[in-house]
Amino acid sequence: MSEVISIANQKGGVGKTTTAVNLAASLAERGKRVILLDIDPQSNATTSLGYARGDYEYNIYHVLIGSKKLSEVILDTEVENLSLAPSNIGLVGIEKEFYNPKKRNRELVLKEKIEEISDRYDYIIIDSPPALGPITINALSASDSVIIPIQCEFFALEGLAQLLNTVSLIKKTINPKLKIKGFLPTMYSKQNNLSKQVLADLTHHFKDKLFHKKKGKECIVIPRNVKVAESPSFGKPVIAYAAKSKGSHAYRDLAVAIMKG
Ligand code: ATP
Ligand code: MG
Repeated sequence: MSEVISIANQKGGVGKTTTAVNLAASLAERGKRVILLDIDPQSNATTSLGYARGDYEYNIYHVLIGSKKLSEVILDTEVENLSLAPSNIGLVGIEKEFYNPKKRNRELVLKEKIEEISDRYDYIIIDSPPALGPITINALSASDSVIIPIQCEFFALEGLAQLLNTVSLIKKTINPKLKIKGFLPTMYSKQNNLSKQVLADLTHHFKDKLFHKKKGKECIVIPRNVKVAESPSFGKPVIAYAAKSKGSHAYRDLAVAIMKG
């Protein structure tokens, strides 16, 4: 059976897509069979893996409304072992469908679709949009765990209580197995005191929920790294674009930590 991991934070621009793409690619590089589900209408994960809008006919929207099977929209990527279920701006339409209170089990639509393909993959990574709306609720309801990227900047922890409440509500009501896999500090700058402060706060509040290279050793942080920022414009994960960059090393460390469980 596969492990389903959502990358979620309703704050915008904290590194969700970057983490989803690069964690997925790093797990695939280790020989795991991985699929990345892009369920954000912005489609940044799809673009980051080299697909432009006109390159594919069907996307996750068609799956969620039931007109295509998930297996029918899956695309290969340039990364061996890594597949992609693409998104498209048309996915905004699903919000209306999912808000319809008459629709039964509307939180569980994505979960049902994932079940159909789960035996083909070791990891299913979900990139969710910057909102706590029905799309993210579907992602959390379908997941074994969630990784929460935290940008090491001012306001980093703002909104976190609301996200944690949502996770615990979903755990209580819809998906008892949902766990917080961990908090991932992103865009960390050594030179920046604010970065250090955010990391210190995270360590203080959530020490057991940070990822570690080795038990007891320093925690994994994703550095602010220009190669990480550039790679989507080349349609590649950073490990393919700049294999030896600091960003690549950090995402590889994260993949290893995830594989250790
Ligand atoms: P949204 O909420 O809009 O979906 P997001 O949380 O998915 O955003 P990203 O798109 O991953 O965030 O990142 C936001 C911006 O920060 C992007 O331009 C991305 O290239 C850049 N970025 C992310 N991580 C890093 C990093 N480690 N180093 C440098 N730039 C980064
Ligand atoms: Mg994103």
